Amino acid sequence: MSSTRVLVLNSGSSSVKYQLLDMRGGSRLAVGLVERIGEETSRLKHTPLHSGGETRESTGPIPDHEAALKAVSEELTKDGLGLDSPELAAIGHRVVHGGKSFTEPTVIDDAVLAEIERLIPVAPLHNPANLTGIRTAQALRPDLPQVAVFDTAFHTTMPEAAARYAIDVKTADEYRVRRYGFHGTSHAYVSRATAELLGRAPEDVNVIVLHLGNGASASAVEKGRCVDTSMGLTPLEGLVMGTRSGDLDPAVIFHLARVGGLSTDEIDTLLNKRSGLIGLCGDNDMREIRRRVDEGDEQARLAFDIYIHRLKKYIGAYYAVLGRVDAVAFTAGVGENAAPVREAAIAGLQELGLAVDEGLNAVRSDEPRLISPAGSRVAVAVVPTDEELEIATQTYALVARK
Ligand code: ADP
Repeated sequence: MSSTRVLVLNSGSSSVKYQLLDMRGGSRLAVGLVERIGEETSRLKHTPLHSGGETRESTGPIPDHEAALKAVSEELTKDGLGLDSPELAAIGHRVVHGGKSFTEPTVIDDAVLAEIERLIPVAPLHNPANLTGIRTAQALRPDLPQVAVFDTAFHTTMPEAAARYAIDVKTADEYRVRRYGFHGTSHAYVSRATAELLGRAPEDVNVIVLHLGNGASASAVEKGRCVDTSMGLTPLEGLVMGTRSGDLDPAVIFHLARVGGLSTDEIDTLLNKRSGLIGLCGDNDMREIRRRVDEGDEQARLAFDIYIHRLKKYIGAYYAVLGRVDAVAFTAGVGENAAPVREAAIAGLQELGLAVDEGLNAVRSDEPRLISPAGSRVAVAVVPTDEELEIATQTYALVARK
């Protein structure tokens, strides 16, 4: 079959990130993004990788997702990679919330679209944007299979004991309140890649994956299946993040409403956009926070310590959930790059068989690598995530089978 290319689309409310991959070897042909859709100063950044060409950038109004995808298509055409090419096998879409219904990547039809739409109340920011991306891509290539790859799918194997909140069952079921988890594509990819790094089959190993980006989540993966994860009904639960609080006493919300007079929307914004690292110290970029810590800035130090304290609690909790741990894997922007975060998160856990080798931890690389001392009982690893490759692989597996 000659159609071996997959276009991966990650559509946000005002942005579209894309990658075109060739599944013969999984090489990237082009990558790019459109930002600030709907504003006067929309920006398109496109890099043709297959030809080693220069990155092209343009600024100007791009009114909606349809115009954005057309602009992307024009850029790809300039590189001889147009979306009308018969070599394009499918379009893979990142869809944030698949609820309980979607446990696997799914070829999109009207019923699938309706279900993604039905889930909007539990993903009010993300699913509408994902739907817009899908509909726009369908209009552009109605003949092509479009596949939804869900951020929640990997977590659907969680046992009820981990997936349910301890609240009234009837109310929970009526409003579909349960723990879904997110970043699943990354947790799936990284847990598998970690097994590979250890030279073992995914079914033979237990891994704690720490996905530390601007959003952050941990997962406990037992023999290749997720058994717990730190995000819940929404991506707000769990670790301290760039701008999200993560775990807190739910009564904080009543307190802010009753005593502080804040509205639901104000509290939502506070906890999702003005909390976490940015709320604690005014910065959400770990590079800047570390620079301030090194200069003796106490506010940045406290933010860092709170971030690490929460991370450590999750490592301990998931160690207990799994019983036996073969590896702890750090991934995403912070996990892949911030050696001081890895060192601090693992410090003091020797009794659990966990340690970080200072020299190995300091090495900068794009490759999966071990940072624990040789002979450690539990491996500590840095495993770069690749959500786009994972989405493309899952998409291609589905359409190539047909
Ligand atoms: P997301 O996909 O959630 O937007 P990423 O996984 O790209 O996030 O991670 C972005 C974050 O990674 C930045 O906010 C920054 O805190 C952190 N980061 C990126 N590079 C470095 C670095 N060299 N050192 C420390 N932190 C870094």
